[in-house]
Amino acid sequence: MENVETLIVGGGPVGLAASVELSRHGISSVLVERHPGTSLFPKARLVTTRTMEILRSWGVQEEVERAGMPREDVLAVGVGTSLSAGDYLRKAAAIAEDAAQSPTYTYLCSQDILEVIMRRVAASAADVRFGTTMTDLRIDPGGVVATVIADGMSTQVRARYLVAADGGRSSIRERLGIAVEGPPPLGHMVSIMFDADFGFLPPGRRAALSFVRSTPGGAIEAVDNRRRWIMQTGYDPAKGGSADDFIEEYCLAAVRSAIGIPDHPVEIVGVMPWLQQAVVAAEFARDPVYLAGDAAHVATPQGGFGMNCGIQDAHNLAWKLAAVLRGEAGRGLLDTYAAERRPIAVRTVDESLVNAMITFQMMAGRLSMHEAIEQQAGRRGSEGLVLGFHYDSAAVVPDGTPEPAPADPYRTYVPTARPGHRAPHLWVSPGVSTLDLLGPAFTLLTAPGSGWAPVPGVKVVEVDSAEWAEAYGVGPEGAVLVRPDGHVGWRTQGGDHADLEKALDVILSRT
Ligand SMILES: Cc1cc2nc3c(=O)[nH]c(=O)nc-3n(C[C@H](O)[C@H](O)[C@H](O)COP(=O)(O)OP(=O)(O)OC[C@H]3O[C@@H](n4cnc5c(N)ncnc54)[C@H](O)[C@@H]3O)c2cc1C
Repeated sequence: MENVETLIVGGGPVGLAASVELSRHGISSVLVERHPGTSLFPKARLVTTRTMEILRSWGVQEEVERAGMPREDVLAVGVGTSLSAGDYLRKAAAIAEDAAQSPTYTYLCSQDILEVIMRRVAASAADVRFGTTMTDLRIDPGGVVATVIADGMSTQVRARYLVAADGGRSSIRERLGIAVEGPPPLGHMVSIMFDADFGFLPPGRRAALSFVRSTPGGAIEAVDNRRRWIMQTGYDPAKGGSADDFIEEYCLAAVRSAIGIPDHPVEIVGVMPWLQQAVVAAEFARDPVYLAGDAAHVATPQGGFGMNCGIQDAHNLAWKLAAVLRGEAGRGLLDTYAAERRPIAVRTVDESLVNAMITFQMMAGRLSMHEAIEQQAGRRGSEGLVLGFHYDSAAVVPDGTPEPAPADPYRTYVPTARPGHRAPHLWVSPGVSTLDLLGPAFTLLTAPGSGWAPVPGVKVVEVDSAEWAEAYGVGPEGAVLVRPDGHVGWRTQGGDHADLEKALDVILSRT
């Protein structure tokens, strides 16, 4: 029997993120993934600004940027009967929209490429086992005992905690009897991956995402924006449709009809059926098992939120598991995982549903092309959701200030260091963001000469900037305590060592 602090089941982006984050917090883990390698299919493409910030903290931001698509290609969206039809309309969202709010941006980098980078980072510091399947699980008073099989050999792994990152059809969630809540499946979808040259399209017709009302119609998505593309379409079993219909001949016809040129050279590379869903697990945790990523919530792909929301789950959970395992926090801290992440997942899944409804209406012809492009483009920027989400739990000490209330909370992010919110970005010196000053432990940001001294587990960083003090809402003696996940845990206009300890006691459930 092997003994580890944490077992992670699932080597998708969320399991890999959990592995990296646990290592960053000094916790050993074993990750098991049944497939021999990372995903071959580019499912997610959109990597949100917040996820890019996490990747920056791992030192791979530039690598992901290089592997992704050029920034100017990222946010353009198009609608039309086909890519070459006269009614095709394209709109590019302002690229600078999120620039001032982060040291990085939203990127398009296919999940198949991103997972390779994540796997390498994870495996550099932890035990990452592909080709290994968890086949059985027992919950013991001291943790879990899992049976894992690799190369036909079965072994048992005992872990104090289990991160279930085993995807939308999570067998662990099922085993625990945790239901999912949400509407019935929204559609039987098929992604057709193909190679084609779109060089004949003028720049005004090139978009990373185009919705086409051809037959069968769907979305055309850029994978590398050069030769590789995905067509997302679907079938209706009630009308006799089936995933088996998607033989090469049918796929070629579907893609060519979407392009609008019947004999355009196209090579079909692969076909992946999937179910469009918008569901959230009724519970995110049954200690010592914690659900993360698609195991806990499945968003529609519209908006590009699913993987990102899951990576943020892992980011939220890892430091809490680490603090409890190191004996620095009470078990109550782990309860704040579900308290913090489930409301965010519900909101994210709901927003993805709004996006899907716009597409359904467009495909059903209930929106004109002009209405469709306005609505699609209007939903492309989502910084309010992506950066503006905040936590309201026992791991946050409120300071009584009101939460920002922008007119459009989906699009508009209002930077604030109000407890519970992501610590805002500001450049403090060339190329150095406030976010670069943080973590992986707690960080106390304060003005020079304010007199705050470090306490165990808290690094004190003096920021010599009036702009910072104003943005963070503190005076010369104030301080902002940022949690290991970059969210503000406590903000004060003044105080001493004992006040800081008291705030930590609350956040870490030590009282
Ligand atoms: C067409 C499409 C487009 C999408 N676009 C976006 C987008 O633009 N942006 C975005 O954020 N999201 C997007 N998503 C969603 C995104 O792909 C998922 O949210 C993401 O893959 C979830 O990651 P995960 O690690 O939770 O689960 P998964 O990626 O499903 O990984 C779970 C892993 O667990 C493994 N596993 C399961 N059971 C076991 C077991 N018993 N033992 C060992 N291993 C096991 C599986 O083999 C699998 O590899 C899209 C999804 C689809 C289908």
